[in-house]
Amino acid sequence: MIYKVDFHMHSIYSDGEKLPVELVWECKQKGLDQISITDHDNITGQDEADFAARRLGIQYKTGIEISSRYFHKEMQSNGINTDELHILGYGFSLESEALNRYCNSMLEDRIKRAEQMAAALRVQGMEITVDEIIEVKKDKMLSALESVKSIIDLGDENKQKELYELIANKINKLDRIFIGRPDFAKIMIDNGIAKDINHAFNEYLNRKNLKTSMDRELLPAEGAIDIIKQSGGSPVLAHPMELFKDNMVENRFQILDSILRELKGFGLNGLEVFHPSATAEDSMQLIKLAEKYHLHMTEGSDRHS
Ligand SMILES: [Zn+2]
Ligand SMILES: [Zn+2]
Repeated sequence: MIYKVDFHMHSIYSDGEKLPVELVWECKQKGLDQISITDHDNITGQDEADFAARRLGIQYKTGIEISSRYFHKEMQSNGINTDELHILGYGFSLESEALNRYCNSMLEDRIKRAEQMAAALRVQGMEITVDEIIEVKKDKMLSALESVKSIIDLGDENKQKELYELIANKINKLDRIFIGRPDFAKIMIDNGIAKDINHAFNEYLNRKNLKTSMDRELLPAEGAIDIIKQSGGSPVLAHPMELFKDNMVENRFQILDSILRELKGFGLNGLEVFHPSATAEDSMQLIKLAEKYHLHMTEGSDRHS
């Protein structure tokens, strides 16, 4: 039997557009059997996704995508100048202390960086507060919830009501929300400071003094793998071909081989072999590497909307 799956999606709780429940509903409409929502560095949406998937008879795996720092000499010597690796985690316990601690600290870190960004914008005469951004985001989430109510049918009115209450209560109580530069851009547009996203970024947010204020401290890849394992989950390397998106070096699969050998030593369990960044030919090569290192193979759309 061939399962239809999507193990890589982003919801409104990170940089996506939709509530987890809406993503789950759409996956049901597409006839998917197994799914996971993998928000960046947080697990806020996992309970509601799991609830909805259960009601709809889809197999759900808890998911996250952790941004990590990674240095590998073969990457550097071949002109691959990224030092960021994304590690997906699946099937972990939502109660895991280590994972909750990590997610809370990452969300707090985002708030801190947003405060710095707001302060830098204030110097330029722009009054944007982080509280205002959080309120705008909560309103957006609550109105997203209102608009899905007429679309989704979980087949049991009481259960559905229970779920919507759980979601609304959670959103109202959120004090840590994933904030990024696009949120600043949206407020600038709403307040008439910028005319569109490009204008907001080019005119304000991409300025050097603002960019550096949003730099972040990432865990080393080994640490990301370790947290996922500690919480009972399975760590998987996300979109390997994206490492080469700016530099399609000829020996990229050789480099990947050596990266995977090292990550396997750290405890990596899987490789995302199907992803929009990989061509059919790339995927064939990735499958070979996954087999060589006894890694699970996963597929993800990485959709954000
Ligand atoms: Zn990623
Ligand atoms: Zn992603």
